[in-house]
Amino acid sequence: MRIAELLKIIFPDSIYCFSCNSIIDSSSLYGLCDSCMEKFNFANKKTCEKCGKILWEDGFSGRCKDCRNQDHDFDKGYTCLMYGLMERKVLKRFKYCGESYMKDKLSVLLYDRLKIELNKGLIIDYLTCVPIHRRKKAERGYNQAELLAKGLSRLTGIEMLSRILVREKYTVPMSGLSKEMRKTNLREAFSVNKDWKTMIEGKNILIVDDVYTTGATLDACAGLLKEEGASSVYVLTLMAGRSN
Ligand SMILES: [Zn+2]
Ligand SMILES: [Zn+2]
Repeated sequence: MRIAELLKIIFPDSIYCFSCNSIIDSSSLYGLCDSCMEKFNFANKKTCEKCGKILWEDGFSGRCKDCRNQDHDFDKGYTCLMYGLMERKVLKRFKYCGESYMKDKLSVLLYDRLKIELNKGLIIDYLTCVPIHRRKKAERGYNQAELLAKGLSRLTGIEMLSRILVREKYTVPMSGLSKEMRKTNLREAFSVNKDWKTMIEGKNILIVDDVYTTGATLDACAGLLKEEGASSVYVLTLMAGRSN
């Protein structure tokens, strides 16, 4: 047995830094050592007022370029980190390497981000997550977005509706399609669970996901929830790319 494996048995996994693997105090806030905490790009400065992406310090204020060109179906987005090399490595471990235990510390990161907005007056009635197809979930063993949303639900006390959104299609072929077609295609990949429909009428929903890229998937989910009567839909992600 390798030393690293032995250490994992002796110590709980959470005392290794998620980014550089150095041994850390288990009380560390987000599973990161002090050095990585300093290096990570937290979205606590200038962000897009619509999607929440980090904006260049000396660039535009207000909306990012994407959000100036195109509106979104969600009301407002928030994110915790900028999707850089180090942040991407952490996400990869959590999403693709079976390291689902990382959910607890990463949920705290989401919680701290959301707390800022709740303190400013944001009202959220229910949490949910971007669903993955059951076949993909069986392959991966879990839906990373669901683990995060459940963690956030525990920390905030806000109820999580884990099955309000359903992923209907396994893959959505997108190449060669126009923007409008892609949008329709993506909408058709999801549906709202009719049994729970009455619960979301007139409510404010927060959709949790791991990463924000173009926002197309989150738009599709938010659009559906609104069609079914949700009053407002917000999105919260662990990380998002920097805006241009
Ligand atoms: Zn570290
Ligand atoms: Zn934006």
